[in-house]
Amino acid sequence: MTKEELWEAVLAQLQFKVSKANFATWLKNTRITQMTDGEVTIAVPNTFSREWLSKKYHHSIFEVLREVEPRIKSIEYIIQKDLASTKKSKKSNTKPSPDSSEENKQPAFEGLKLNPLTNLNPRYTFEQFVIAPFNELAQASAWAVAKKPGRTYNPLLIYGGVGLGKTHLLQAIGNEAAAVANLKIRYLSSEKLVSSIVSGIRNHSIQELKNNLSHLDMLIIDDVQFLAGKEKTQEEFFHIFNALYENNKQIILSSDRPPSAIATLEKRLQSRFEGGMVADISQPDYESRLAILETRAQELGIEIDNEVLAYIANNVQKNIRTLEGAIYRLRAYQKLHDEPLSLGQAKSLLKDLAGAPPKITTPQQIFNAVANYYNLNQQELFSITRKREIAWPRQVAMYFLRKELRKSFPHIGTIFGGKDHTTALYAYRKVEKQIENDEQIAEEILLVKQRIYAE
Ligand code: ADP
Ligand code: MG
Repeated sequence: MTKEELWEAVLAQLQFKVSKANFATWLKNTRITQMTDGEVTIAVPNTFSREWLSKKYHHSIFEVLREVEPRIKSIEYIIQKDLASTKKSKKSNTKPSPDSSEENKQPAFEGLKLNPLTNLNPRYTFEQFVIAPFNELAQASAWAVAKKPGRTYNPLLIYGGVGLGKTHLLQAIGNEAAAVANLKIRYLSSEKLVSSIVSGIRNHSIQELKNNLSHLDMLIIDDVQFLAGKEKTQEEFFHIFNALYENNKQIILSSDRPPSAIATLEKRLQSRFEGGMVADISQPDYESRLAILETRAQELGIEIDNEVLAYIANNVQKNIRTLEGAIYRLRAYQKLHDEPLSLGQAKSLLKDLAGAPPKITTPQQIFNAVANYYNLNQQELFSITRKREIAWPRQVAMYFLRKELRKSFPHIGTIFGGKDHTTALYAYRKVEKQIENDEQIAEEILLVKQRIYAE
């Protein structure tokens, strides 16, 4: 057997062991470059792949290799730059592949119908979810919960910034669990939960609603940060939560921030939310962005030059939704022109999506972001109260005025109602120190910062 044949046989087997998305991301662009004395060398396109394969897939690869060729004793992974995918930069006159022709809409697959009983969208599956370091923990927890609802982590709360895959994971859990067992599952956005509870109260049907929700096997609530300030909803939800929890029924939640940072979330709900597994999704790095782009391009059946993919991964950094937006745009263009896209064309098509996040901000943006994050209105930020719910956000705002805009401490003092410069200095140092000593605060500040520069 030649090494090409061997690797082909191995890949054919591995396809059944890993998800489609992960296969496309991690295995597709690999090959055996050497095979001597039971030692196999596998070439991968970059360091990232090497780490991932040797850490995560080594065991499976080794096992399958030995099944096919029992003499193999060891594997080495090496990097070979020109291996990268979508090698076909050749002109292709082929018609768009059949699976890319039906939907022109974005996002793709949106045409798929929601399941009216569960509210789940079947496009969100684990198969289509690319796992990379920034979401690994969240994915693993989600998978564990999907496999043993109510018996691993309860509740499971996944948090992270906008467009990073929270909804996808939450729904994947529901879809996966539904495929295996006959469970009563319901997915609700927080807005939907609030409006159902409000109308339940108005129509005197709240008891019925609570009964329905309390008798599910799995309740999924997306974006619970929107429950902030909705006292009545929180109260009712608390009871639903307890009923489910006591019966070992699975509760799954997402939020754009850790529960402790959801202002005006009742303490008892906060501690319920934190009582199970809390997993975060952070920002994807370059390699993860590239991996996701490649998977999407492949899924949509479009060919995009490596150079162009690298350009997008480098320049479209906001989140995964924006990355997808870029791909859809290129696809639309390619369909119209029926020819591969050059880097120059890609650049001009993606002008508005690209560019590192803007590095400039204004005091106004800082006030907006801080007030918004802590659920205050702006006047409150400037009020003279010493209440912690307000004093802390105010200190955070002072911190950012200094840190991001290099405002002088006396000036910051003046902005906040003629306070002494020592107040501003104190605030700055305090926040800085807390960031150093408290991981949770560090993350909170990072999330606020992302908001300042969002838009
Ligand atoms: P969030 O709920 O965090 O705002 P979404 O779950 O809506 O984000 O994700 C935004 C888009 O990115 C969706 O189309 C989703 O399918 C896609 N996406 C997010 N993470 C991944 C991933 N790891 N692999 C593949 N697609 C992803
Ligand atoms: Mg979402």
